[in-house]
Amino acid sequence: MSTHRIAVIAGDGIGKEVMPEGLRVLRAAAARFGLQLEFTTFAWANCDYYREHGQMMPADWFDQLKGFDAIYFGAVGWPDAVPDHISLWGSLIKFRREFDQYVNLRPVRLMPGVPCPLAGKKPGDIDFYVVRENTEGEYSAVGGRLFEHTERELVLQEAVFTRKGVDRILQFAFELARSRPKKHLTSATKSNGIAISMPYWDERVKAMAAHYPDVRWDQYHVDILAARFVLSPERFDVVVASNLFGDILSDLGPACAGTIGIAPSANLNPERTLPSLFEPVHGSAPDIYGQNIANPVAMVWSGAMMLDFLGKGDARYVQAHDAIMHAIETVLVQGPRTPDMGGTASTTEMGMAIAALL
Ligand code: ATP
Ligand code: MG
Repeated sequence: MSTHRIAVIAGDGIGKEVMPEGLRVLRAAAARFGLQLEFTTFAWANCDYYREHGQMMPADWFDQLKGFDAIYFGAVGWPDAVPDHISLWGSLIKFRREFDQYVNLRPVRLMPGVPCPLAGKKPGDIDFYVVRENTEGEYSAVGGRLFEHTERELVLQEAVFTRKGVDRILQFAFELARSRPKKHLTSATKSNGIAISMPYWDERVKAMAAHYPDVRWDQYHVDILAARFVLSPERFDVVVASNLFGDILSDLGPACAGTIGIAPSANLNPERTLPSLFEPVHGSAPDIYGQNIANPVAMVWSGAMMLDFLGKGDARYVQAHDAIMHAIETVLVQGPRTPDMGGTASTTEMGMAIAALL
């Protein structure tokens, strides 16, 4: 079995505090299950680097990272020093686009021991994935302004949907649905209001569905879908959406399933020609940085997703993934817990408790 090379970028704020715990757990899992993981740390793609060099990353960042199997990423952003659009577009968004990580994958799962903001839900009731298109759609930089600062001022921004871009995200989502017990897919759309691109998306869903007769599917306008996330989350299995709608749904979903401190995500290049990136949903959280109280579970769970992706088909990786998830669940129920979950433990204590169970 070959070695997997992992680039480690802690980034800013609590990224620097949760990353050591993520690595602690991955090292424990590697030792127990005999995985060959090789970690290489990079001290750029953070706002300290920006203050010294006037940019978030060195010019040859692509060549430095392209040979890795994965990037394990903490969080980026320190708005007091660097505006968010500069720090984000100068690092994370470059990774997503240049490494063609066209799938943004977020599990939405109510874990045992986590208080749910929705009344009456228990673990098992909420267990689905949001699959967001990550490279095109509404987040194109195509557009402009005319007649600026006049009464006739006109601002235009285009959305871009290519057949290749739409089909590949739908194919990923249908494959994921097929692999799950419920085999159900929901497409988020808004074809009553956005009358050109969204009907096209619907057409491509229908065409793709023909290749997956074993997957049941439906589609919702995104507004009512958001309401359904809150009112009846148990009906969902795999939810696929364009870049903008997926962005919103993939924040709403984890919020329905409890604290932001535990929600993980993956930015995938499914063809594996370039590295995929695994990161917590939360950001750098400057308000709690420096106190060692950040919840490390999102970072640890993102590491489990990374093992699942890297080791496809290798039983030891599956076991390592399952063991980490089991350790997370045990600690969420028994403690120690960080203050966001009502406990008094530190980031380090919670990370060590998860690692100890491995
Ligand atoms: P983004 O980087 O996406 O802009 P943000 O900086 O606006 O995000 P986050 O960093 O995600 O916001 O955090 C929002 C709030 O949630 C934080 O201010 C913090 O109080 C809390 N929070 C976030 N992550 C964690 C965590 N791991 N543990 C405990 N609390 C957290
Ligand atoms: Mg922020």
